Parts: sequence; C-alpha cells; structure tokens
Amino acid sequence: MRKKIVAGNWKMNLLQHEANELVNKLVSQEVSSEVIRIVFPPYLYISELLNSTSNLAIGAQNFYPKDFGAYTGEVSISQLKDLGVKYVLVGHSERRMYFNESNTFLKEKVDSALANDIHVIFCCGEPLEIRDQNKHELFVINQLEESLFHLSAEQLKNVTIAYEPIWAIGTGRTASSQQAEEMHACIRKSIIETYNQEVGDSISILYGGSCNPSNAKELFACPNVDGGLIGGASLKAEDFYAISTSF
Ligand code: PEP
Repeated sequence: MRKKIVAGNWKMNLLQHEANELVNKLVSQEVSSEVIRIVFPPYLYISELLNSTSNLAIGAQNFYPKDFGAYTGEVSISQLKDLGVKYVLVGHSERRMYFNESNTFLKEKVDSALANDIHVIFCCGEPLEIRDQNKHELFVINQLEESLFHLSAEQLKNVTIAYEPIWAIGTGRTASSQQAEEMHACIRKSIIETYNQEVGDSISILYGGSCNPSNAKELFACPNVDGGLIGGASLKAEDFYAISTSF
C-alpha cells in the first residue's frame, strides 16, 4: 500500500535555536500514525535533532555520492547513514539549477543512497517554458528515465517521487489539483509500463510547489497524490501540522 508522507524541506533557513524550537513543536503534535512526517534541516542540525524525535524523521537535503575521500566541503551518504539518517532528497530543482546537478549525476546519487539503504525522495518537475509548450509530461518522464528507471523493481520501492513544477516552487503559485493529478497519473502510468502494476501501485508520489494549509486538502484528495513536499510552509509548526492532517 502507498504511504502517506508529508516532508518539510527547510532549505538554508533557521538558526540552531529556531530549528530546535520548531522540532519540539512538531514532536508534540498529534498526527495520525498513518502519516510519515519527515523534515530536512540544514546538515549542521541533523545530529542534534535526530536524538529528539520519535514521531518525526530527520532527513538530509544533500550528500555527495562517494563514500570517503578528497571532496572538500562535501558530506557522504556513509557519514549520514552513520548518524542514523534514513531519508535524503535527490533532484531538487534548486540543486539542478544552482549546482548544475544533471540527470546523470542524480542517477549516481540515487545509486549511492540506495546502496546504503537510505530512502530517496526524488524530485522532478518542469520549468514554465516547458509547460507552456505542452511538453511537461515528456520532460518529467525523461527525468525519471535518466535517473531512476535503471533501478530494479525492488530498489525502486525505496524511492518516493516528488512532482514539483518549478514554476510553483516558492512563487505562491500552486498547480491546480487537476494539473497535479494529471502529472501524478502520468508518472504512475510510466512506472507501471516500465515495471508492473504492483510496483506502480506501491510508489508514493508527493506534490510540491507552494502547498499550504489552504490547498493541501484538495491536492491530497486527488487519487494519485500521496502527500506533499513542503518548502516555505514547513517552517511554521502550525502550517506543517495543518498540512499533515489534510488527508
Ligand atoms: C520545495 O522547495 O520543495 C517547495 C515545495 O517549496 P515551496 O513549498 O516553498 O514552494
């Protein structure tokens, strides 16, 4: 059965005491045990936050896909695994755009995480000009083909997909529930065609892009939307709670 997931990408926000306060609030919230909540803080705070949570998973926003070595400034998946991290983000549009992470490099990251038993939340999504040309489905499926579809069916089960149209990230502009559902259904269809029905039925697909307490219910009611990857609204405990209880 598909899991319901609400994940918060904090990006490069919050000071340490603010991160601690936010997690303390999130931990005290009562959310259905059917909903997996994950937050992705900046690296610096991960080890401290990992100790304070039982009903909230702590993930990493990034890593470098080599185990150890001369890669100044980088953090490896083995180091995250050693801390107890169980989830990583891969393919976020900000990493693709500002750090030139290509589909080929993202494939390496996916392989590195899965080889270390870390669950991958894989982000995909089109820029506005691609949607305007009505090529968004081809664009997103190509991202999946080049970075994910080399995996075995067993490996893919350790991946959650987050559809994040770039034009909706941090812009206050959300995809309509119809636009989200169409793309999620298209992604699921391509998984079924590449693998099989059982695999397609088991992969959670999250929506990301200005998801907030006022639109989460409608988005999560779509048959192929299994939750959300939340940016801005994940920095407020009340908003993250409202979204986590929108199923
Ligand atoms: C994101 O960056 O993953 C995201 C969805 O951001 P926001 O919710 O702020 O649009």
